[in-house]
Amino acid sequence: MDLVFTHEQIGRYSRHVLLADFGREGLERVRQGSVLWAGFSEAVMEASLYLCAAGLGTLGVAFPGRIESSRLLDLKSLNPDTRIELLPDLKGERDYMEQLPRFGLCASASETHLTLAGKGARESGKRLHVGVAGKTSVVTAIFGDGGPCLDCWRDRPRQGYSGGLLWKAASSVVGSLLASQILKDLAGIDLPPGDGVCFDLFEGTAEPFHIPRDSNCPSCSEQPSG
Ligand SMILES: [Zn+2]
Repeated sequence: MDLVFTHEQIGRYSRHVLLADFGREGLERVRQGSVLWAGFSEAVMEASLYLCAAGLGTLGVAFPGRIESSRLLDLKSLNPDTRIELLPDLKGERDYMEQLPRFGLCASASETHLTLAGKGARESGKRLHVGVAGKTSVVTAIFGDGGPCLDCWRDRPRQGYSGGLLWKAASSVVGSLLASQILKDLAGIDLPPGDGVCFDLFEGTAEPFHIPRDSNCPSCSEQPSG
């Protein structure tokens, strides 16, 4: 593993380097890492800023037309170490299958793109990080990699996630939590697929949960019942 960093890089990432569970090895893994966003939202923008600041190698962003040029400039100029790849709009399964194999993992914080992201990640064998907001809560979870696929979660009570964000401040919480999970995953910190956390922003509580793989899942089980 190439653990050579310039003086400037050590200065930029000094706080992460000091973390015992992260260190230079974690930093290097993040530098080698690549993430493809499925869909675009305020939370994606928020998470992207953290990922770039932490030294992510490559960030694939689709739907460039939805990003204000000044914010895109902010993102591109945040860290010269991160390559921002602007992709065409990913509108169908084939688009994901074309792009995803080049990336280490897939992430989504966009309700309208969850289904496609789930399918793309399952077909290409990539881990999928999801961040969604309920009325006053935020849920993050990890799919794929031998664990549940997104469809295993579909017909179950989706912990804390009731659809439709009401609490406006939840957007940035989704972004920062998702960025934190992605960075831990890239750095090699153990995050078993199926694990998730629900943060109730009104109660001020965090509840971990686990989504089991559904042996009757129509999408990922070997002998689906339906
Ligand atoms: Zn499944």
